[in-house]
Amino acid sequence: MESYWPEEGELRSIEQQAASIGDPVRKLRYLRAAIRLQPRLAPQSSLRGQRYPKPWAYRAAALVAALLALPAPPSADVDSMLVSVPAKPRPLAEPPPTVWLVERADDFEHYSNGLRIENLFQVRAEPRGYWRFPLDGLEPGEPQWSREPAGIVFHSTESHAAEFEPERTGPLRRAGLNLLAYVRQHRSYHFVVDRFGRVHRIVSESDIAHHAGWSAWSDGNWIYLGLNQSFLAVAFETRTEQGLACLTDAQVRSGRMLTEMLRARHRIPAVNCVTHAQVSLNPHNRRIAYHTDWASGFPFAELGLPNNYALSPAAVLLFGFHYDERLLESGRPGMWQGLQAAARRLLEEASAQGWSVKQYRAVLLRRYQQLVALAAERDPKEAWP
Ligand SMILES: [Zn+2]
Repeated sequence: MESYWPEEGELRSIEQQAASIGDPVRKLRYLRAAIRLQPRLAPQSSLRGQRYPKPWAYRAAALVAALLALPAPPSADVDSMLVSVPAKPRPLAEPPPTVWLVERADDFEHYSNGLRIENLFQVRAEPRGYWRFPLDGLEPGEPQWSREPAGIVFHSTESHAAEFEPERTGPLRRAGLNLLAYVRQHRSYHFVVDRFGRVHRIVSESDIAHHAGWSAWSDGNWIYLGLNQSFLAVAFETRTEQGLACLTDAQVRSGRMLTEMLRARHRIPAVNCVTHAQVSLNPHNRRIAYHTDWASGFPFAELGLPNNYALSPAAVLLFGFHYDERLLESGRPGMWQGLQAAARRLLEEASAQGWSVKQYRAVLLRRYQQLVALAAERDPKEAWP
């Protein structure tokens, strides 16, 4: 479906028309018809380096939120309305790609899709095991124990690296080796994809890496809290500068092959392949994206994944968390898409329930606290704030 965003002048007239509608449900219908808030999907071949959407696109989103809020909130407060529960479980049935191990030697593995994994830096850590919680109504259901990785969290290493030029090969290699030593020592990720596209296995897939901190995600069937235990970590050697992180072409190719292999091996659904910023949360101030790596600009399409930025962060949808304006600023496809989707769903569902947003958010926060208490009871050695 084609995206449609109104031009500046059009926005003003929509704003005036909507302001004259008193009933919130009618106002929502009008706005949804006037502003078709479809996420913009990036062209597969040219995602990186592009800067969009344009500022007026943000304004359109803010307009919907501002006009529907009662009383009118500041424009950044779209999230004051983001409280909802998925109406039905998300389908997880899409088949993962078929990839198999072709050869394994002491220090490398080779897979049928061309993936090569270097194992020189591999290290063991604590074995994986975690509780996942059914997403079935607002009350916590009976948790289920699992040892299988449920998903992938993509990171940027935020490490220093030289310019990607032939003359800088020496410094590039040294930076990569220093990074690998550090990541191995701290057991930070399961995989690091270096600037040359080489895939290094660090923490064994069966073990826990310290990559996600306080975090949450849901695939529509299960809620995952504390993704160190439940999700694999794939980190790209790169650095975010002025909100932008870039990958080399080699990193994109290798990242795609690695994602295919992990999805095939562990039967990971595409909806559980997300970025750190999408899952990160701060339990103290109830805001999402405490860690902001890949809050925007992650090349989902080029890695063979759907545009998962269109998914609403679980902490917002299920726990009533807020978000920070920074998430709307990068100018590249990013989390703002999922936040808009959450805003739409909240408005529909809150209206249907006849609850105020404030009441609903209080219920969702209580759900978060109940789940955390349950997690702490089941797994007391973890820090569950
Ligand atoms: Zn990260």
